[in-house]
Amino acid sequence: MPSGKDVTSGSRGSAGKKNANCSFCRKSYREVGPLVEGPSDVYICGECIELCQSILEQERRRRGSSRSLFNKVPTPREIVDHLEEYVIGQEQAKKVLAVAVHNHYKRLMISAEADSEVEIEKSNIMLIGPTGCGKTLLARTLARALQVPFAIGDATTLTEAGYVGEDVENLLLKLLHAADFDIEAAQRGILFIDEIDKIGKTSQNVSITRDVSGEGVQQALLKMLEGTVANVPPQGGRKHPEQQYIQMDTTNILFICGGTFVGLEDIVAKRIGKKMIGFGSGSDGRSETEKGELLSQACVDDILEFGLIPELVGRLPVMTSLAPLNEDHLVRIMEEPRNSLVKQYQKFFEMEEAELEFTPEALHEIARMAKQKDTGARGLRSIVEEVMFDIMFELPERKSGGKYVLNDRMVRGEEQMFPQDDSAAA
Ligand code: ADP
Repeated sequence: MPSGKDVTSGSRGSAGKKNANCSFCRKSYREVGPLVEGPSDVYICGECIELCQSILEQERRRRGSSRSLFNKVPTPREIVDHLEEYVIGQEQAKKVLAVAVHNHYKRLMISAEADSEVEIEKSNIMLIGPTGCGKTLLARTLARALQVPFAIGDATTLTEAGYVGEDVENLLLKLLHAADFDIEAAQRGILFIDEIDKIGKTSQNVSITRDVSGEGVQQALLKMLEGTVANVPPQGGRKHPEQQYIQMDTTNILFICGGTFVGLEDIVAKRIGKKMIGFGSGSDGRSETEKGELLSQACVDDILEFGLIPELVGRLPVMTSLAPLNEDHLVRIMEEPRNSLVKQYQKFFEMEEAELEFTPEALHEIARMAKQKDTGARGLRSIVEEVMFDIMFELPERKSGGKYVLNDRMVRGEEQMFPQDDSAAA
């Protein structure tokens, strides 16, 4: 450490003082290397300087982020506009979410104003809809729109661990990780809990690994949703001076719970007296539009039939359903979002100085195949990857500047983009 370069006026570098200790961590010069000396025998080591820097940095970020959050909460319309860029369809859900999230952060803003008497009532959200229709994507995109930390947890993992209390806190740990251990930010984050329908005590998906009633998990979740100060173990996380666990207040965390609630439409149909008559009745006999319509009418009582305790459902007052995606939606999902599959593959081709086009028929064929898998938009990627596999293998050896069109026959494997006899690179 060059002497006289430190910030404390009148102090000297103390590299020479072999018997000095850091005044902060008490470690000796021998253990930690050069110390910076302040007035009247005060020293600080490099490690403590780094720690101080990170504390100050965190504080700066905290102030910065709370300012940006509290100065401006995006309007519901702005939130919907942001969602439109990434999520196809699900218009009703987008609006409901935008209003709920806007209100949630507005309430935080009010409570931050010192002399406010208004008490925050949490409005956590329940998202109902089939697999792969965009529940997680919506929650994630919302968090991005609001620039708050976001984490995903799975309610079924809570049941498997047996000891419930610990696991629930692990969900919070994920949020803390996402916030880079900035507690203030994490306490205003969004936590998405998937498969909430699978922890019901009378759930149809009875599993021997979960506790018999399922109620213990629900009680633990309930506490977290209501708002509690939880002790989060920073296991495996970053080094944290002195404490064994981190106290995290869940009062202002927005919880979004998602579930497929298989068969919910039958429960709704029964309640509103809309019975299917004859063979093929029940969920299999319904058209997708009909299913979507029934789901949109789901209410608290229907959810309770899945064995969720009323208190827990009561803590998820905003409820909205997502419709199953149809073929046209799937085609749009491949094309439109910012990082759509089509755009990604076109980028690959661009990197090889080639051009790629998907015919509308090809996209519809892929959508049809995905539809058969019944996993919503989740199936798209693996199908497209399989279709493109041979092409991606061959492409780098083709001469540059080519323009290629993927048609539906290629999707079905009836034709090849690069026939075998067509000699490669010229
Ligand atoms: P789930 O409803 O099961 O939570 P996800 O949101 O995880 O489904 O969707 C899986 C993937 O499918 C997403 O990462 C996204 O790429 C795509 N996807 C699903 N629904 C939509 C949608 N409505 N708009 C755009 N992409 C979607």
